[in-house]
Amino acid sequence: MYPNYPFVDVKRIELPKGWVMMGVDLLHEFHDLKQEQILNSSFSVCGMREKFGKLDVRCYNAPLVVERLVSGYSLQAERTCQDCGYYPAALHKRNNWVRVLCTNCAIKSNYKLA
Ligand SMILES: [Zn+2]
Repeated sequence: MYPNYPFVDVKRIELPKGWVMMGVDLLHEFHDLKQEQILNSSFSVCGMREKFGKLDVRCYNAPLVVERLVSGYSLQAERTCQDCGYYPAALHKRNNWVRVLCTNCAIKSNYKLA
């Protein structure tokens, strides 16, 4: 599912299915920056996951351009349904669990607006 780029230094990237396309897009953007030699060989991605309803991306030797790119994607993730990818979505809660969900998916899994 995910492109197998050499700078991805993690065995498996596991994102909720509604965020998979976003993760793939982000990896493509890193790839392009590599191609344009804006990122050097010391750059690598060592993690990408959902954590407490946020997109958590970890990189080694990330220059400012990567930080900006990642924060843009993080903002997008905050409004993108983790289950179906629908935009806009919002943070929802069930007991101590938080997820970014659209209204339909929230109803389906019994989550309430946080
Ligand atoms: Zn949804």
